[in-house]
Amino acid sequence: MTRTRNSQSSEQTAPTHSLEREVDALPGIGPKRAKLLAKLGIHSILDLLLYLPKNYQDRTALTPIARLSEGETATILAEVIESRQIRMRGRLSMTEVLLRDETGEVRATWFGRGYLAKTFAPGRSALFSGVVGKYKGLALKNPDYELVEGNDEDAIHTGCIVPMYRLTEKVSQRMLRRWIHDALETMASSIPDRLPVRLRSKHRLPTANSAVRAAHFPDTMESASQARTRFAYEELLGIQLSVLKQRALRKSEHKSIRHTISGPRLLATRQSLPFRLTRDQQRAVENVLSDMASPHPMVRLLQGDVGCGKTVVAIHAIAAACDGGYQTALMAPTEVLADQHFRTLQRYASTHHMRCEILTGSTRNASSIRKDIASGAVDVIVGTHALIQESVAFHALGLVIIDEQHRFGVLQRSALAEKGLHTDVLHMTATPIPRTLCLTLYGGMDITLIDELPPGRLPIKTRCIPNDKLAAMHRYVCEQAALGFQTYVICPLIEESDSRKLTSVKRHFEALAGSAYSSLRTALLHGRLAGDEKDSILTAFRDGLIDVLFSTSVIEVGIDVPNATTMIIEDAAQFGMTQLHQLRGRIGRGAEQAYCFLIGSPSTDDGKRRLEVLCRTSSGFELAEEDLRMRGPGEFFGVHQTGLSDLRAADLVRDIRLLDATRRDAMDILRADSSLAKPDNAGLAELTAAASEFLL
Ligand code: ADP
Ligand code: MG
Repeated sequence: MTRTRNSQSSEQTAPTHSLEREVDALPGIGPKRAKLLAKLGIHSILDLLLYLPKNYQDRTALTPIARLSEGETATILAEVIESRQIRMRGRLSMTEVLLRDETGEVRATWFGRGYLAKTFAPGRSALFSGVVGKYKGLALKNPDYELVEGNDEDAIHTGCIVPMYRLTEKVSQRMLRRWIHDALETMASSIPDRLPVRLRSKHRLPTANSAVRAAHFPDTMESASQARTRFAYEELLGIQLSVLKQRALRKSEHKSIRHTISGPRLLATRQSLPFRLTRDQQRAVENVLSDMASPHPMVRLLQGDVGCGKTVVAIHAIAAACDGGYQTALMAPTEVLADQHFRTLQRYASTHHMRCEILTGSTRNASSIRKDIASGAVDVIVGTHALIQESVAFHALGLVIIDEQHRFGVLQRSALAEKGLHTDVLHMTATPIPRTLCLTLYGGMDITLIDELPPGRLPIKTRCIPNDKLAAMHRYVCEQAALGFQTYVICPLIEESDSRKLTSVKRHFEALAGSAYSSLRTALLHGRLAGDEKDSILTAFRDGLIDVLFSTSVIEVGIDVPNATTMIIEDAAQFGMTQLHQLRGRIGRGAEQAYCFLIGSPSTDDGKRRLEVLCRTSSGFELAEEDLRMRGPGEFFGVHQTGLSDLRAADLVRDIRLLDATRRDAMDILRADSSLAKPDNAGLAELTAAASEFLL
């Protein structure tokens, strides 16, 4: 009976729509537009309602025409006096409308949109919002408009606080506003609220239902911001619940290897270190060893800037694993980097009676090495992706170390760990990750930060070099060579290219080796050289037989020559900020003051800012925060592979306090109800499930 009554009443008023229905149920949306909306992630009516504005324009206050001034954004209420379409060059046209209110007259113009000349028939009244520019006196350029003779509730484009959305082709602000407005009007039920009342009242958050309305059509900017906060909180809480649940699950497992941390190799390692560990390194070693000794699987991220000394921490872990008879596998993203680790670890391993080998795509005796890994004859194996091939089997893999872990996918990382039984995993990264990203992307790992350089290191000085100082810079390089110090010159390209007017390393090498550096020993290195040729050049440089090494960014990681004190980067603005930071991390590894010189004047403001920031700070973390602020999380490494660039409301640059609050709340919630099984937490369980999907 009830059902019949409902359907009758809905026939009398507007038809209502259930939130789960596809968007094409709404008037004005057909299959074509539904497809466009799908590109924005909008499928159902609920998706549409949860598609939040990226910002707002306050168009509430009306400005009398006489008070308009150039450059401001203004809203006027005016009557149309005349309107016409003007043909311009080619197929271009312009619409020009003359408007009047009691204080004066002004024009409004649009490019194209000839149909507007008809819309604005003389005598009609409308609200216009836009920037005041110049055209036959003052004129509103491409203003948004809303005819006022329609019914009042339709005034959604102007004369109020107007939502602005992220768009896709062929979908305009006006369309989205209209559709969302219609969807709100015809909603058959209220929007389900996944936040329990207790959390809403704790943080004074509005209900989902009122927040959706306030987010799209707010009465005040204040209520818009409260609505955004609510959704950002919900989003971040879902992520925190998801990552912390994973973490709690791991801590409840008791099957991991209990490594011994009092064995002979670890002891000998501690006693034979050629230097004292910094406090951060000591803490890192303690964290890692206590993880390894515990029965819970280790998943720890060791984060520290280039040169801060992560390798020695890894060495302690390797010693502990080996003392218990377990093997270690270290995986690096490139052959060069794997080779660098291999050299370091082999030197160390041989003094402590361990066998260390390398396995990459170009290893010649791969099959005999694989055999020795399987038999347990190899204690430490360093390699690239080659390590996760099916043909590689271990005798007793007890420790996995993943270097520059963000360069591997989640599956690749776990594939290596799965070659052992209950293996402990140490992730390392020299790429500084802003805290918000770290807590979301890696919120489920335990994190150790090394934030201090070994003693005696002078921070690298970075300078932008204008053209009139180039000669002086070349002299400096020659003086350094005379003192026995070496220089890198980095160029963005190998060969000349017509399409990109950039410095090629070959050309630059030929030019300078024959002139400014003619008295120095120079060499050329790039990715197209044969492997052994590259090796012999790198070895010669390492041995001090080359003064200036011209190279592309192949030397970004994997070469450690403390005697190199200077780096020149040509067309510096071509490189990303993080990459520049990693490049310059190749110098400043000894006790001498190191200099990094950035060449070339960037054509964009953004480029200029990037170089300025590099000159200002040598801290990778400061740089990463700045990078995140400038580029937004979508561009930040690895983020586009996760759902983080699709956050609807939260802003990983601004919402650090909210993120901390959700992390605390998530911990409390899970402490009381670890599997989110209580009825009260049903909404939270849904949020958590959605976030886990989204993060992978
Ligand atoms: P990362 O892997 O973090 O880039 P490394 O482990 O390669 O850094 O260390 C950089 C250099 O600093 C190495 O030559 C290493 O021997 C040296 N080093 C590491 N820790 C210390 C320390 N506590 N005191 C002095 N030198 C150190
Ligand atoms: Mg363990």
